[in-house]
Amino acid sequence: MSNTIYFTPGPSQLYFSVEQHLKNAMREDIPSISHRSSQFSHIFSETTSYIKSLLGLSDQYHIFFTSSATEVWERISQNLIEKHSYHFVNGSFADKFTQIARQNKLNVTINNPGFGKPFELTEISKENELISVTYNETSAGFQFDNTHLEQLRKKYPQALIALDVVSVAPAVPIDFNLVDTAYLSVQKCFGLPSGLGVWIVNRRALDKAANLTTQYQGSYHSLTSLLTSSKKNQTPETPNVLGIYLLGKVAHDMLQKGKEMMHRDTAYKSALLYQAVEENPNLSPFIQSSINRSKTVCIAKVKGKNHWLLQQFEKMGFILGEGYGEYKNDHIRIANFPTHSKEQVEYLSDLLKACRPN
Ligand SMILES: *Cc1c(COP(=O)(O)O)cnc(C)c1O
Repeated sequence: MSNTIYFTPGPSQLYFSVEQHLKNAMREDIPSISHRSSQFSHIFSETTSYIKSLLGLSDQYHIFFTSSATEVWERISQNLIEKHSYHFVNGSFADKFTQIARQNKLNVTINNPGFGKPFELTEISKENELISVTYNETSAGFQFDNTHLEQLRKKYPQALIALDVVSVAPAVPIDFNLVDTAYLSVQKCFGLPSGLGVWIVNRRALDKAANLTTQYQGSYHSLTSLLTSSKKNQTPETPNVLGIYLLGKVAHDMLQKGKEMMHRDTAYKSALLYQAVEENPNLSPFIQSSINRSKTVCIAKVKGKNHWLLQQFEKMGFILGEGYGEYKNDHIRIANFPTHSKEQVEYLSDLLKACRPN
């Protein structure tokens, strides 16, 4: 591997143990084994059980594999919503879900305070079968209020709640009992090659899907089909076997290190990054309120444009993320994922404090 460290918010720097696990996978012929073999079933069962421990999921929750989080948006639209859904949207990823829901002919209600702006909890009509929340909006560096999630659960017990945890799990503690379904892609906080999504679904959501008998729920990746296969520790299609293997290994490494320690490290490194941004007169945090500042994706506005900064850091071997969409040249986005060590972030923060336009 090169000496460059990727602080981009996904794909990002690989988790430090991935290289060794890849070598082992080659030695064990993992890419050649049958997805109907007992060897694969063992990998499936190990990976799902490590993820359950890492995320603190009860037995009510099942784990399925998809190609990406984007796929899960379509699967939720087809399997968990008959007509109406409600979406908290203050950035591009949450918005993409609403587009997919619309393409699936759903009636979508959107709470949109503006890009990266905090939400107000206004009344949600009871006809909405599902409430969609993006826990960490990667495009804006915004973290959803935990108390808001608790309030939603209490106030709308009849609705399913779907939580996008793509760029945040397992780096921070999340109470999954507050939601019925959640999903992530492995190229963010797990530090793995892209091309694998993890879909978490509880009993209640599975029951809802089972009752939507009149609508098209997708073919091979309908919830029913995923559930039937998962009971055999299999997938309906030939899956990303190598990806599932690597995910299990990395989840196991994270458990060995200790999830509480990982959560503490994330908080510590995140505080360093925001402090550095606040101390540099050329930078300022994009998100105003500190409770809404993402712990895993720190976004700073750069005075002028960001090119000088990105170039300086690239020369020093650090690849930082540019802004998202229309903020491409105005923001920098710095990933703070479990693979980024305390030492690396301490060093990066010192550089960030000191950097000046050429
Ligand atoms: C990256 C990201 C996605 C999409 O992930 P894919 O792997 O491209 O499907 C969805 N939501 C959030 C918050 C993300 O950061």
